[in-house]
Amino acid sequence: MIGLYEKSKQRLKSLSPDKNIEKILEVEGISRRDFLKWVSVTTAMLGLPGFFEPLVAQSINALNKIPVIWMNYQDCAGNSESILRASKPTIDEIIINLISLEFHELLMAPSGTQAENQLEETIQNYEGEYLLFVEGSIPLADNGVYGTIGPSGETYKDHLLRLASKAKAIIAVGNCASFGGVVAANPNPTGATGVMGVDGINVPIINLPACPVNPETMIGVLIMYALTGELPELDSLKRPFFAYASRIHDRCERRVHFDAGEFVESFGDNASQSGYCLYKVGCKGPFTFNNCPTVKFNDTSWPVDAGHGCIGCSEPGFVDKFGSFEKPFVEENINPAAESIKDIPFVATTILAAFSYEKIKNIIRKENG
Ligand code: SF4
Repeated sequence: MIGLYEKSKQRLKSLSPDKNIEKILEVEGISRRDFLKWVSVTTAMLGLPGFFEPLVAQSINALNKIPVIWMNYQDCAGNSESILRASKPTIDEIIINLISLEFHELLMAPSGTQAENQLEETIQNYEGEYLLFVEGSIPLADNGVYGTIGPSGETYKDHLLRLASKAKAIIAVGNCASFGGVVAANPNPTGATGVMGVDGINVPIINLPACPVNPETMIGVLIMYALTGELPELDSLKRPFFAYASRIHDRCERRVHFDAGEFVESFGDNASQSGYCLYKVGCKGPFTFNNCPTVKFNDTSWPVDAGHGCIGCSEPGFVDKFGSFEKPFVEENINPAAESIKDIPFVATTILAAFSYEKIKNIIRKENG
């Protein structure tokens, strides 16, 4: 860890930040105290010890040294909305102003030819340096005709391959870009797939699945890269451990009720009023890896806290895999310890997962008589 600390210090020195975050925050009406609180939460989310906090704060000043291209393909722009639609001015919104966001068709002022030129210039000027954020899936059926872009009608697939070939790495934001998402739901007429389903990409891919992904997770990747110059450690589905190492179920505030066998049987019943576990009304938290219970959304709440079960939006196969959002998952042959948990070096988590799996199977058996 000390090695990483020294490396991060040198890296930040070499990026020679030219912004003054304190002044920017002051203008935006965010107190130093709030900023330091945010730094502390972000440092913890990244799995870094407390003594990294000054470096994390410093790294924000360096974000404008990292060129970012953000492409929207077959998508609803929900992840762009996620990073912008905070309920009050937050540090996340300010960070968007600090990032060197060279191209984002939703946010940029230029359009048409001007926008096209801006993109081509960025690719040339920052070859091998830019992070390519991809939002939305890529349609591959019928040679990709279901998604085209620009005056030449280039398919999304060809466009992605062209941009990817000169990128430092691809950050696939949302379930569609990661695994195909809603667009790839059965019968998937466009042959939609996530970025990693496209052959010919030779740069690292980081998946940030969810619908939408939490802005803190996107910003976490950027801060980690600004700090260390490296991409975060990934699981077997290319998801960063710092955000996807635990199941929703393992950190859920209703977990105590699950363990006590106290369940909501229907929405609005007394158990629901008492905050009991939502497994029987469809919660997919035992099968879903994400940081929602600890990071929450907009610093405020998250679906289970608001009274609806997790719908498994960060898992491969969402939405088909889990079927109805409000019915319990009853396929016993799916192990909630899932693909990625075997990579997690925490024995305790694995034991916990195995314990929960047995418990869930017993509930399912009872449900099925
Ligand atoms: S089943 Fe859902 S509501 Fe119940 S403890 Fe697990 S994650 Fe929380």
